[in-house]
Amino acid sequence: MATDTVQSRVFNFSAGPAVMPLPVLERIREEMLCLPGAGASILEISHRSKEYIAVQQQAKQRLMRLLGLDDRFEVLFLQGGARLQFSMVPINLLRGRTQPAQYVITGSWGKKALEEAQKEGPVEVVYDGKSHNYSRLPDPSELSLAADASYVHITSNETIQGIQFQTDLDTGGAPLVCDASSDFLCRPLDIERYGVIYACAQKNAGPAGVTVVVIRKELLERTPDNLPGYLSYRNHAEADSMWNTPPTFAVYALGLVAQWLEETVGGLDKMLEVNKRKAARLYEVLDAYPTFYLGHARPEDRSLMNVTFRLAQPELEAEFLSQAAAQGLSGLKGHRSVGGMRASIYNAMPIEGVAALADFMREFAARHA
Ligand SMILES: *Cc1c(COP(=O)(O)O)cnc(C)c1O
Repeated sequence: MATDTVQSRVFNFSAGPAVMPLPVLERIREEMLCLPGAGASILEISHRSKEYIAVQQQAKQRLMRLLGLDDRFEVLFLQGGARLQFSMVPINLLRGRTQPAQYVITGSWGKKALEEAQKEGPVEVVYDGKSHNYSRLPDPSELSLAADASYVHITSNETIQGIQFQTDLDTGGAPLVCDASSDFLCRPLDIERYGVIYACAQKNAGPAGVTVVVIRKELLERTPDNLPGYLSYRNHAEADSMWNTPPTFAVYALGLVAQWLEETVGGLDKMLEVNKRKAARLYEVLDAYPTFYLGHARPEDRSLMNVTFRLAQPELEAEFLSQAAAQGLSGLKGHRSVGGMRASIYNAMPIEGVAALADFMREFAARHA
């Protein structure tokens, strides 16, 4: 039997799958052998059972309350990750149309979304930050958005580069489609601005296996009739995300995370306050040692979720990572495509973890400067 206990837990800065709120893990453990009222584990019961249907309905209602959604929106629980949404969005919203979809490319994930859309219909890149290595967002004057575009696609937080839209983009009329995989539920949104929001759960909202799609119901009318069944948003909406067997455990865990956000954190306004405090702790260190730590993001575009930086002396990076790990600070290695470091400080990362990392970084810089 495993003997590791809660005391063996490190501060986990992994980009995803990522840290979960400890009270959620404890609740899962408590209920694992028997979901209250069901007489069996969540892993064992039918998705058609009344106990599971209640779990899924509650998860949906909690997300709707947290995000301020009304019945103009549908919330879907799908599989295939955010990567399948890169295809499902254009298949449902672009196929057969003449007006292009406009893509704003602020980093690696937006680029991958674009590649899938290009297979489905006319696409226009209205911004690509490649020339400055995706270190900043477009200034409003750099974006020329067409009100009659089929939709405008953004990535609200580029997980690999660590840059994040600070406000909800105003498209001037076209539906805004947002890949929010790595900052979903990190702050309140101006929901009026959005047509579709999609997010895989395993960064900021739960375990791998479920992807949330929030979609304006009027957009469901665009779904072509002849799609393979799973790829049709309309099928999933009409079946209330039971068109096929949903990822029951992942939906259950996501629902517990949403409950934690509502009842323990106190909603997304509160979560945003906490997230700002946490991120500031790390960016203060980057700013205090600007010749030692080189932050990737332009300061005004810095992410609340993924803090990216390199060491000015790259030969110290291995030592940085091993000494951090020795202090229980894990998962800090940056994505292989950009190198350096990345501290992912999602909603569930406690302030104590961020404080420990900030202390370590100050001490490491002082020792090597
Ligand atoms: C992780 C991530 C994805 C890919 O998610 P999968 O679930 O692996 O398909 C897409 N977009 C963003 C912004 C991400 O952070």
